[in-house]
Amino acid sequence: MPPRPALIDVQALDLERDALLVRRAELPERETLRGLAARAVELDQGHAQCLEARATVNRQERDWANQVEDLAVKAQELEDKLYSGTVKATKELEALQEEVRGTRERQGEFESSQMETLEEIDRLDAEAVDNRKARQQVDTDVSTTQAALAQAEALIDEELGVLAGRCGLHRQDVPSTILTEYDRLRGKERLGGRAAAELEGGTCGACRVRLPVIEYNRIRNEADDVLAHCPRCSRVLIRIRPEGGSAEGAP
Ligand SMILES: [Zn+2]
Repeated sequence: MPPRPALIDVQALDLERDALLVRRAELPERETLRGLAARAVELDQGHAQCLEARATVNRQERDWANQVEDLAVKAQELEDKLYSGTVKATKELEALQEEVRGTRERQGEFESSQMETLEEIDRLDAEAVDNRKARQQVDTDVSTTQAALAQAEALIDEELGVLAGRCGLHRQDVPSTILTEYDRLRGKERLGGRAAAELEGGTCGACRVRLPVIEYNRIRNEADDVLAHCPRCSRVLIRIRPEGGSAEGAP
């Protein structure tokens, strides 16, 4: 078996590392946390609105209570006058009775309105309690999810560390000229992290372009540290030499 060029392993390990970084960035816990953050904002806004409504209804309730009290005082005064014996004329008594009746009636109506606002206050208070319970649950879920995320990240980081160690060892066996160019091309977005490709019998292993025979023969016989690029995709070509031949462009 011919020796396996180290750049093949470097490339494979880097791609594995890239995939892990994508997995790390797209861990489902991140999406869950985004959802929880949105839910927290929604709940807090709902709570603020609830408190505002509660303050408004509270003022209304106070208004009704004051009016009910005023009417009660007025009705009492009228009744005192009615039963004081000071009013004797029948017509006057009837008019007074009518006024008492009207006042008590209005007092009753206002009391109903006050009761409605009290019920609304109870409803809003219950809503606020439910809201805060839900908000507390969100906080709990955030903590749980953050812990799960940290755990998942730690596992991936451990894998990344192992890969980096292995990659480092293989990099030592790649000529520096080739390694420098490989690293430069790794940064090119259009190559998707795949900066090197094996030259498989004159064909680029990445873009599948077939090299002209003269070009192929020239590249094939270059020394180890001489760079060879694919004419189409520009990736560093990894030359696999037959057994017994000289070492690879990227050993
Ligand atoms: Zn190519």
